[in-house]
Amino acid sequence: MTINPALEHNPSRTPSALVQPNPNPGPNPGPNPAPSPGPNPGPDPGLAAVGTAPSPLALLLLGRGADPTSERGVDCPGDLPPAADPDLAARAAAAKATLGERVFILGHHYQRDEVIAFADVTGDSFKLAQLAAARPEAEAIIFCGVHFMAESADILTGPHQKVILPDLAAGCSMADMATAEQVEQAWDDLADAGVEATTVPVSYMNSSAAIKAFTGRHDGTICTSSNARRALEWAFGARGGERVLFLPDQHLGRNTAIAELGMTEADCVVYDPRRPRGGLSQAQLRDAKMILWRGHCSVHGRFTRQSVDEVRARVPGVTVLVHPECRREVVTAADRVGSTEYIIAAVDAASPGSAFAIGTELNLVRRLSTRHPDKTIVFLDRTVCFCSTMNRIDMPHLVWALESLVRGETPNQITVDPDVATPARKALDQMLALP
Ligand code: SF4
Repeated sequence: MTINPALEHNPSRTPSALVQPNPNPGPNPGPNPAPSPGPNPGPDPGLAAVGTAPSPLALLLLGRGADPTSERGVDCPGDLPPAADPDLAARAAAAKATLGERVFILGHHYQRDEVIAFADVTGDSFKLAQLAAARPEAEAIIFCGVHFMAESADILTGPHQKVILPDLAAGCSMADMATAEQVEQAWDDLADAGVEATTVPVSYMNSSAAIKAFTGRHDGTICTSSNARRALEWAFGARGGERVLFLPDQHLGRNTAIAELGMTEADCVVYDPRRPRGGLSQAQLRDAKMILWRGHCSVHGRFTRQSVDEVRARVPGVTVLVHPECRREVVTAADRVGSTEYIIAAVDAASPGSAFAIGTELNLVRRLSTRHPDKTIVFLDRTVCFCSTMNRIDMPHLVWALESLVRGETPNQITVDPDVATPARKALDQMLALP
């Protein structure tokens, strides 16, 4: 789907007229082949002979097949209303009114407008989980987001609260890039190199509950894109680490280490789970300050330095505002960098007439464009791309979830096993305790 120019604000047309979401999005573009590996020297000779092992995560078409251990690709068992039903909004409103305080609907910033319209609160994943925990009267939490977010909400909410993901195929390709098995192997590699005792795992919120649990078991912390700097400062400071294993987004880890902690590319190596010992020598593992997992966001990873150069030529005086999940080359070329909450606040605070090119998920950019008709707001890339898994949550799934609750059924409940939830909660609590 290519729209050109993407999201250029034109007061005579609504943004939705400029960019039509695909109601049946295909899978995300898959692992972006631009991992920005930084200064990783080549593997040692022994590794070169072994080559690259196939990924244990074969790409599954979203919504088909079944892989409950993966963030993506599980069937939705619902008997969904047709997408063309003209009464979907009325049905959702009626069911929500019937349920009253018993249901609380969370809407992540990257959700579709029609879904956000029914959200009681909007926010990033951690803010939403915290808000759900602060609403104990809500027996059912409908999380309009992706799987790892619903897991976090289940970990943080009370045992009487049921967390529901309207479409089980709404996973996250980034979270999928680090499995528990792979991360345990990496930890073994660090042990073989004699450095696991001085390595601190720091895991991005965008990871499975199993990875959060790994992090808690090894006395690490979770971080968000808002507090990654504080998490790293804690890991190297109060926690006494000599290096960090940063999971699963290499770009957030690299951008934070270099831009906010003053490290250099030479301090960072990239651990590729598809290669023996991550494609690194033991000396590289020992000498690194940041061991970055080879993972990335399929949406933010698509922005390039060329995207920035093109938009500067196209929109005079534009401020380029990007998310730290973007590649290093994009972040260094941008004017401002920050989380989704930071991006929203920056646009809200800007003067009328300001111009922004925003490098984050399109639903949010489009909503900002609608909310600020007095500002020029364009999508950073000329090729429009939604997060296809976020877009799995649509009105038919929301209506089905709400009406199931009205019938006394609990659809698509996300539960995290206590053996996983307890150490994952420890890592989340550590994040809350960051100085
Ligand atoms: S935008 Fe990126 S990190 Fe967020 S859910 Fe989609 S793939 Fe995952």
